Formats: sequence, structure tokens, C-alpha cells
Amino acid sequence: MSHVLVCGGAGYVGSHAASVLAGHGHRVTVLDNLSTGHRDAVRWGRLVEADLLVPEQLDRAFEEPVDAVMHFCALSLVGESVANPYAYYRNNVAGTLNLLEAMKRHGVDRLVFSSTAAVFGQPQSARIDEDHPQAPINPYGASKAMVEEILRHAAQAYGLRSVALRYFNAAGAAADRGIGESHSPETHLIPNVLRAALGTGPALKVFGTDYSTVDGTCVRDYVHVLDLADAHVLALGLMDREAGAHAFNLGNGNGFSVLEVIETARRVTGRDIAFDAAPRRAGDPAVLVASSDRARDVLGWSPRHAALDEIIDSAWRWHSAPAY
Ligand code: UDP
Repeated sequence: MSHVLVCGGAGYVGSHAASVLAGHGHRVTVLDNLSTGHRDAVRWGRLVEADLLVPEQLDRAFEEPVDAVMHFCALSLVGESVANPYAYYRNNVAGTLNLLEAMKRHGVDRLVFSSTAAVFGQPQSARIDEDHPQAPINPYGASKAMVEEILRHAAQAYGLRSVALRYFNAAGAAADRGIGESHSPETHLIPNVLRAALGTGPALKVFGTDYSTVDGTCVRDYVHVLDLADAHVLALGLMDREAGAHAFNLGNGNGFSVLEVIETARRVTGRDIAFDAAPRRAGDPAVLVASSDRARDVLGWSPRHAALDEIIDSAWRWHSAPAY
């Protein structure tokens, strides 16, 4: 069993990964600056409060030998990245470099990196596989693509083993383990839809109704956060077997429009969900759907919660009674 340093383990995807790692018997240490994460989401290991932008704070996380690092710390909002690119490059690229240098100082040569479908930009095919060209159309996607490039160079120069996992749209929750999605402000579709169902959020807006898609709204591939967490555990196994910098696209291969998500949420919650049509949001591609054949073939990944109903139902259980 490994000792895994989960950077960003107080956040949404990182806390679910920590939970699944612990379930597999791995030892977890969380590093987080709690800027967007939650202390209450750190339930499977000790918390080291540190900031990737302050290199001397990082050594504390390596006091006990670390076998592998999972790196979830990032700013991750497309629209915000368009408005404030310096913050995105500083946090996501410079912060990651500090982490990589700390790993090198401490002789840690395994990294699982949270990447994103946004590294691809406007898709050139119905489903995006790993051979699809990378041409990000927003600073968020560009910052992640830069780190992927750094990881390829680090493999050659230093023998760093890495797996970049490109999430499509992470959604769902493990409410029974006391964790779920909680951002402030919340910008993601499914939480906003569910808050509208509860009557606790602001009025729901649908950003863009004139895309060339099935009903004019953007199409995304929603993937359960616990399925993403499983892929991280499988990535540890791949790095045991193989050197080099690997990358995999993680989605279910099914696209749902914003209106289809709202309709599914109405069915799952039994609530009325009103919305207003609003202008397009900067930086949003019309359609993002994954081909995850490589993750299935090479990692042995097999999503266990692929149905949109199940994803939304798990998120609904969290949002109905969030623990933080
Ligand atoms: N979206 C929306 N209303 C919202 C939040 C999101 O219409 O309140 C749209 C957004 O423009 C995009 C899709 O829903 O087309 C998914 O957005 P989200 O922010 O959840 O994820 P992203 O695809 O940006 O990673």
C-alpha cells in the first residue's frame, strides 16, 4: 500500500479521491491552502495547510516518505480564466512547477495530474480521443496543456512517471461519506440546477441557446466524481508498471445538452425547475464528449455510475443536506 500526498484533497474531486484511496487501503496526506477547499472534507488523512505558491511551505508535506502525489490544486473556471489569465497561469503553472520541484527534492517520482477536456479547445470530432489536437481556447485549458507539456519533458529529463487525467464534466457526490460539491460562488451546471430545484440558489440561467447542437444549448459529457477517483487509483498501478508521461480522457462518451440536464433533474427531483435564457458564456465550446477507450484498455477503467440519472441523484442527495 502506498502513502499518497493528495494536493487539493480538501476540494471536490480531491476529497472523493482521498476517500477512494483510503478505501483501497492507501495512506493519505492532504495538502491544501483551503482557498476553495473545505476543512470538513479532509476526513481520510492529516491536513498540511500549505500553498503551492510558497515553496518553503511544501517540505512539511514530505516529512514522512511519500510514494506518489495526486495533484488537484487549481483554479478551474473557464469564464474566470478568460477575465483573469495571470491568476490562472500563476496558480496552475507556476504552482505546479513548485510542487514538481518539491517532489524532486524529496525523491518522489510519481504524479497523477488533474487535467481537463479544455486542453482540446473546439473539438474536431464527435468524440475526443487522446490523439485529438490540443488547441485550448481559454487560459484555463491552456494552463493545463502547459503542465502536460512540462510532464512530458520531466519524464525525459528526470524520469518522472506521470498520468494526466483529463476530466470531462465532473459531477455527482458521495453524500453517504459526507462529501460533495460546494463552491462559492457556484458556477457549475448541475449544482446550480439542483439549487434552483431547492429554491436556494439564484435564478438559473442557461448560457447560450443558439449553439449548433440538438436544442441550441451546450453539450457536455458528465462523469461521476467517484468514477474519476477510481481512475486515479488505477493510474497508481500503471505507474508501477510503466515509466513515461501518460494521458487519458475520462468521460462516459454520452453528451447531454443543458436543457437535457434540466429535464433529467426535474425527473430525478420531482421538482419544477425554472430557468432564463442568457447570452453565451465566454470560452465555452459547443460540444465536449470523450472517447475513453484508451482509459478502458490501458488503465482498465470502467465507470460504475455512468447514467446521468444516477449522477444527478447522488448530487441531489448531497445538495438536499450538504455537510459544508
Ligand atoms: N451552464 C449554464 N448555466 C449555469 C452553469 C453552466 O447554462 O448556471 C452551462 C455552461 O455554459 C456550459 C455547461 O452548462 O455550457 C456546463 O458548464 P459547467 O460550468 O458545469 O462546466 P464546464 O463545461 O464549464 O467545465
